[in-house]
Amino acid sequence: MKRLIAVLQSLTLSELRRGLGVTLRHFFKPAITVQYPEERTPQSGRFRGLHALRRYANGEERCIACKLCEAVCPALAITIESEEREDNTRRTTRYDIDLSKCIYCGYCEEACPVDSIVLTRFIDYHAEERGELLYDKQMLLAVGDRLEADVADDRAQDAAYR
Ligand code: SF4
Ligand code: SF4
Repeated sequence: MKRLIAVLQSLTLSELRRGLGVTLRHFFKPAITVQYPEERTPQSGRFRGLHALRRYANGEERCIACKLCEAVCPALAITIESEEREDNTRRTTRYDIDLSKCIYCGYCEEACPVDSIVLTRFIDYHAEERGELLYDKQMLLAVGDRLEADVADDRAQDAAYR
């Protein structure tokens, strides 16, 4: 009997008609596709996007080369080299993040004692070759300079929630 039903279903194309019915039901409903980049979905203030290194208002780098971010990074994506300056402060001579390794966990941001390395909410970046995802210190500082107002805004909102 089961076999007979299966044959009848096959002959009457019932599965195909059911499938087309689903298509027809959804055809006249409003589309829910977001037309990126013209349209955007809402984003949390804590969204973790592209990394940035921040400066103080006087232009001095915040990073004190403590290397906590490098130590805590589970993906071993951060490489830091440092040296002591003439004024006895320590600063990085190299600060690389390999974004092709990064898992955007935010641990580096959490570990940083001076709020230097941050994950911004910026998502409009891409790479066509692997090497393009290796961000060095100057690139990270440039991102920080460009997005400082947004980062400071997010920090202020975060503080207000606590
Ligand atoms: S977000 Fe996580 S994986 Fe990426 S660099 Fe920071 S600590 Fe490493
Ligand atoms: S970014 Fe922060 S945690 Fe990383 S080395 Fe600089 S000061 Fe330390």
